[in-house]
Amino acid sequence: MDLSFPPGYPPLQPGPLARFLPPLEEGSIARVLEDYGKPDDLILDPFGASPRLAVEAGRSGRAVLVATNNPVTRFVLQHTVQPFTQAELQAALARLAAAPKDDSRLEPFLLDLYRTECVRCGALVIAESFIWEREAEGPSHKVYVCDRCNYAGEGPATKADWERARILSRRGLQHAIALERVAPAGDPDRRHAEAALSVYPGRALYALITLVNKLEQLVFEPRLKAAAQALMLSAFDSVNALWGYPEGRSRPRQLIASQRYREDNVWRALERAVRTWALDDPGVQGTIWPEDGLPSPGVVAIFPGPVRELVPTLTDGRARFLLTVLPRPNQAYWTLSALWAAWLWGKTATAPIKVALRRRRYDWAWHAGALRTVLAGLAPLLDPEATIMAFVPEAEPGFIAAALAGFDGAGFRLEGRALRLDDRQAFLTWSLAGDSRIPALTGEVQQRMASAAIGALLARGEPTPYPLLHAASWCELARERQLAHLWQSEESHILSAVGDILEATLVDREIFDRLGSFIEPESGLYWLTDPSDANQPLADRVEEIVLETLRQGESFTLVEVDDQVCQTLPGLLTPDRRLVHACLISYAQEDPQEGVWRLRSEDDPERRAVDCQEIRYLLAEMGQRLGFTVLDKDLLTWLDEQGRQVYVFVVSETAVLGAALEAGEADSLTFVLPGGRAALVEEKARRDPRLRQWLQNRVGVVKFRHVRRLAVEIGLSRENLGMRLAIDPPAHHDPQLPLL
Ligand SMILES: [Zn+2]
Repeated sequence: MDLSFPPGYPPLQPGPLARFLPPLEEGSIARVLEDYGKPDDLILDPFGASPRLAVEAGRSGRAVLVATNNPVTRFVLQHTVQPFTQAELQAALARLAAAPKDDSRLEPFLLDLYRTECVRCGALVIAESFIWEREAEGPSHKVYVCDRCNYAGEGPATKADWERARILSRRGLQHAIALERVAPAGDPDRRHAEAALSVYPGRALYALITLVNKLEQLVFEPRLKAAAQALMLSAFDSVNALWGYPEGRSRPRQLIASQRYREDNVWRALERAVRTWALDDPGVQGTIWPEDGLPSPGVVAIFPGPVRELVPTLTDGRARFLLTVLPRPNQAYWTLSALWAAWLWGKTATAPIKVALRRRRYDWAWHAGALRTVLAGLAPLLDPEATIMAFVPEAEPGFIAAALAGFDGAGFRLEGRALRLDDRQAFLTWSLAGDSRIPALTGEVQQRMASAAIGALLARGEPTPYPLLHAASWCELARERQLAHLWQSEESHILSAVGDILEATLVDREIFDRLGSFIEPESGLYWLTDPSDANQPLADRVEEIVLETLRQGESFTLVEVDDQVCQTLPGLLTPDRRLVHACLISYAQEDPQEGVWRLRSEDDPERRAVDCQEIRYLLAEMGQRLGFTVLDKDLLTWLDEQGRQVYVFVVSETAVLGAALEAGEADSLTFVLPGGRAALVEEKARRDPRLRQWLQNRVGVVKFRHVRRLAVEIGLSRENLGMRLAIDPPAHHDPQLPLL
């Protein structure tokens, strides 16, 4: 059941409409295809939400069949598989720029809409953007570069700026056309379309529809026309009021203007889009499905419709591999897609997603039902032995629940999981359950969920946030195919039914201890009232794996180290990347030129052994000098005249403190560590309130270099030792060590 999480890189080229498409890491799909399936598999992606998936699968030599019902996503997919060249995009931009408009050309005409005056020198300038407060009738600021006085930045908007914005925000011909294309008079969705249009500032809509009209009048060869449409799609995305200012709402889901938004210059948005769409050519072939025979290896076949309509077209065989990125509901993107498709491609193209205009609210229960319906219809497409895998980026409890409930309800059995929930990533696999009916475990459900949550805490060995316990318990039910039964309930929706049981489970204070905030079940951390069977804390194991990995070779990329950690700690143990990174920084140095990490020379095992010996020697000598009896065994113990332990030192090269803390021995311990471990101790303390509290109450950790300083300090006495141990002189203060 526990799988290794396949880590990837943050993408170098985020690609078009990246804020709306799933944030799938680069290389994850390629990594999965190294480990699963066969090279001649036909890969089916029924949701087509992630162009990156199709491209990586195609590049790995697989035949790929993708259904995409949303014409906007499909367009991005097509032109990620076979990207435009920079030259094509520039040619398209130049054609638009030179198109006649009134007595001028289109470029100066559009730029002139953003004309304003420099606040410094009064020169005529073209604003890059105007900044608006949502309810205001005019912009508050403008952002521009002045060629005359070289001022670049923000300035307050003037009366003249308000006047220009006001004239263009009047609902004139362009607004009527924008609406007419989406929902002509008499269309039941007209008022929804009108509401959707309101996220566009009047000037932006005026400029965009002027462009749309122009594109239709111009005679373009098809490839250049598509390139122009690509640029326009990015401009459609860029100039609406969903963008917060200065930053924020980087991944909007609701179609609501930001409280403070940026009204981008439409022409500048088009210019920027050239770089967005000039993607590296993945060397993959794209075709439109259906065609004769099955797609060939290395070909991405795109089915322009919903997957239920794909089913009857695939008569020659069944897919052995379903690989997908689960879409998550996004009212903003779906609604905007309907607008954009209508503007660019007209009514027929928009028909499949026009319903998005009307449906304003998508909750997880809705999503679970939608997934179940789609997945149930898929079964005939799949080989009974098919491998079925899904990435869930932006995973949160509701999304995980909807995914598990949807698959189980559609007749799939959960087979595997890897959850990296601090990074909001999940990787799940299923099999076709066939007819195997499993009796309902009525009455046992809560107990199953409780033991799954307890098991997860014991395995991780450290306080753990709610989403992980949620996923552990839901996965347990999905593995037993209990969710399919719970769909039958007429009393409440499966999501709330299971949610209620989980909540009832986790409030049991005899089993679960809550650390931190207690108000919502989702907040704070969960731990066990009886942790005696718990594993070594996960954070310590991660550190050990990272160190071991680094000592086994010359150099490693971050992903190689991460991959090693993920393989050793699968399933619910997959640690967050921040922790892996903190361990890596503690022991290794990055070579930015080569993009690799190398063990620090001071962390060479032999050098560290010498260091540790030296520190033990210094501590022993110091103890004797201060009149203590020193016992030098595993621990270094200082005894007073009555034979009482006054200090017990643990000299260690690592920040692995957990075992000692767990064993309850820690009250008397002082850890002596290399200074390079300090930031790692801090990161561990951030994650684990037990460690945090322990550190707050004592001088629990002392650095090697501090011991070296104290060893030569003349005024050191028994009386001032405690205080001296606690003080690290500022001259030697390492900026990364505020905690110690
Ligand atoms: Zn100026």
